[in-house]
Amino acid sequence: MRSETRAVVMPGPGLPLEERRFPVPRAKPGGAVLEMVASEVCGTDVHLHHGRLSGVPFPIIPGHVNCGRVVETGGDLSDVDGRPIRAGALVTFFDVFGTCGACWHCLVARSATRCPHRKVYGITTSARDGLLGGWAEAIEILPGVRLLPLPDGVAPEDFMGGGCGLPTGFHAVERAGIALNDTVVVQGSGPVGLNAAIFAQLSGAGEVFVVGAPAARLEAARELGAADVLDLGAVADPGERARWVRDRTSGRGADVVIEASGNPAAVPEGLEMLRDGGRYVVVGQYTDAGDVAINPHRHVNRRHATILGCWGYEFTHLHRALAMLARHNARFRWRRLITREYRLSEASQALADMERLSVVKALIRP
Ligand SMILES: [Zn+2]
Ligand SMILES: [Zn+2]
Repeated sequence: MRSETRAVVMPGPGLPLEERRFPVPRAKPGGAVLEMVASEVCGTDVHLHHGRLSGVPFPIIPGHVNCGRVVETGGDLSDVDGRPIRAGALVTFFDVFGTCGACWHCLVARSATRCPHRKVYGITTSARDGLLGGWAEAIEILPGVRLLPLPDGVAPEDFMGGGCGLPTGFHAVERAGIALNDTVVVQGSGPVGLNAAIFAQLSGAGEVFVVGAPAARLEAARELGAADVLDLGAVADPGERARWVRDRTSGRGADVVIEASGNPAAVPEGLEMLRDGGRYVVVGQYTDAGDVAINPHRHVNRRHATILGCWGYEFTHLHRALAMLARHNARFRWRRLITREYRLSEASQALADMERLSVVKALIRP
């Protein structure tokens, strides 16, 4: 085994990425070491580089959703079904760890995604603590981090085409509580929005409409089964966009609207697209992009609206979303969402392309 391995480090907000060498980690008892197969580049990495997330322990190795091959385990490991995980297995893992199971948020509120002890690979892990991000040749799986073997028939590209948008979109749809034949509008055509459109259909939605940009992402939405798409670039007036939704819903608005855009202005606009008594889920405002005015009377009270936030995802969402991907891969072919693959040495280019939205899903393959 080699003694050194390479990783890409983000030293701080706005600073150029650096390639650095690290000692090859050894598996701790209950942990493992993976040889990296692919890591994703997502909007979160761009936000990290812009310094828009608080509490990030720079320098970090980005890359929070990953696929790798087990090189070494620290003793016997198994998945949640009790099946052993051995060297050579192709796996992903739940990128969140350290959720304590002992605090008020975990035990009383049962909102584990708000546990203050929670950490996330590639986001709240420092490069000083080792290879804890996926833009690298190897990654260390700490004791307690849950590995998920890729199901039979699922290739790394299939899972990585979903990326973090897969469990996030799944969680948003679960929050939305879609009823059979509900009409759903998804605001945003990035990976979260596209996965929300997929899982809305699998939840029994009637028509799913996607409002977003640019054209390539909307084309992907159509291929994934959207009944119709609206290009934000072509229709600049928010009032006209809300009318576009009402025209397709007998003048009433959608039963469910899922915001996955990241733009605060999408929230009052989305509430205008919602029918009376409808449900609105906000999942796209992962970073603080500013304030926006809503009309409490018209948007919420008189509309009798239910408004739900959706923060992160839990193991259950990743586990079930991966099983759904395995079952419906032939229909949705998630790997089509991968626009481009980059070597470790091209990480800066990957980040720049994601920033410009010229890619839907980008992979780093060391
Ligand atoms: Zn806790
Ligand atoms: Zn991500």
